Amino acid sequence: MILLGSTGSIGVNTLAVAQRFGMRVEVLVAGKNIELLNTQIAIHQPKVVVIADKEDALKVNHSNVLYGQEAIVKAIEDASSELVVNALVGFLGLRPTLTALACGKRVALANKESLVACGRFIDTSKIQPIDSEHFGLWYLMQNRPVEKMIITASGGAFRDWDIKRLKDATLADTQKHPNWSMGQKITIDSATMVNKMFELLEARWLFGEGKYDAIIETKSLIHALIDFKDGSTTAHFAHANMQLPIAFAIDGKMSENILGHVDLLKVGSLEFREITQERYPIWQIKEDLLKNPAKGVVVNAANEVAIEKFINKEIGFMDISKTIIKAYEKDFHMPRSVEDVFTLDEEVRAFVRGIK
Ligand code: NDP
Repeated sequence: MILLGSTGSIGVNTLAVAQRFGMRVEVLVAGKNIELLNTQIAIHQPKVVVIADKEDALKVNHSNVLYGQEAIVKAIEDASSELVVNALVGFLGLRPTLTALACGKRVALANKESLVACGRFIDTSKIQPIDSEHFGLWYLMQNRPVEKMIITASGGAFRDWDIKRLKDATLADTQKHPNWSMGQKITIDSATMVNKMFELLEARWLFGEGKYDAIIETKSLIHALIDFKDGSTTAHFAHANMQLPIAFAIDGKMSENILGHVDLLKVGSLEFREITQERYPIWQIKEDLLKNPAKGVVVNAANEVAIEKFINKEIGFMDISKTIIKAYEKDFHMPRSVEDVFTLDEEVRAFVRGIK
């Protein structure tokens, strides 16, 4: 396989699954964590390695090291592997997704920002999403009339905070996820609930038009539910461990045990909560966004810049959602092509950088 983002949370889990299935890794792509990358190179012996910056190239223990975003694209084009696992974070993952699909490769897609920003122009038939919620929905789907597809959220780091304190929340506070550990950006997205809105959008592109919603399930043991027309509801239970959706996305078979089962007697009880606009102001635009999913590029670009501003302490935590909503309400021209998506992404970033 070609693994993009090997040193991240999904990347590390993907390599664990690859080792278990005895899969070869042809290309490893990482950013700045060269120490971990060198360990991965020693174990997996890739033919090509790509990193973010030229200045780190000499630190990489490999004879074929490329750097920069264009090198990621070239490595995908040149490699013979038919599977690309895209675990890059952010909009920079979009071009590699498009390249992999244009080369006729299969894409195991963790990078949410690809479908959120450009779902309208992506043929999802060659994509297998790496996410517990979409895996759960897919698992539950049957040939029966569906009323609504529901995914669950943990509620993020602030689900139990007094709402008045949220404006003073720090970056370190956002990273205290109640149920598991993930990359920095998705953990912030989880605290704002932007992550769940992104997953709803991805579901819309993967499963087509229909009714979608999300609720909080505090133990993160149920990942998806489907309300069928007849009044039945089914739920997908599994422990919160990304190796299950990753294993399915890269291997496709579901014949061996990946995780232990959820023992409901040990769980005892479950708690469900509504996602409220007071705690998660981004929820104000959820319905409209699902009706206008092409606006995902605006939300994504605004979110990425707002997060940069939050990390640089230019804005507070609650300003992340406010900033996204301001960009969302501006009348940008909607993209008519993939290249328009890249142009609009730039326009939105410039607009958000200019907000004082
Ligand atoms: P991480 O931040 O942990 O990992 C991101 C990866 O991208 C790292 O390997 C990082 O390298 C690499 N990277 C960043 N910038 C560059 C660059 N310029 N060039 C090359 N590589 C780069 O993120 P996650 O693994 O948590 O998430 C990845 C994606 O998967 C996100 O889109 C997220 O929303 C999605 N996702 C994550 C889940 C999770 O459980 N974590 C669940 C479902 C989806 P380095 O660290 O070396 O700098």
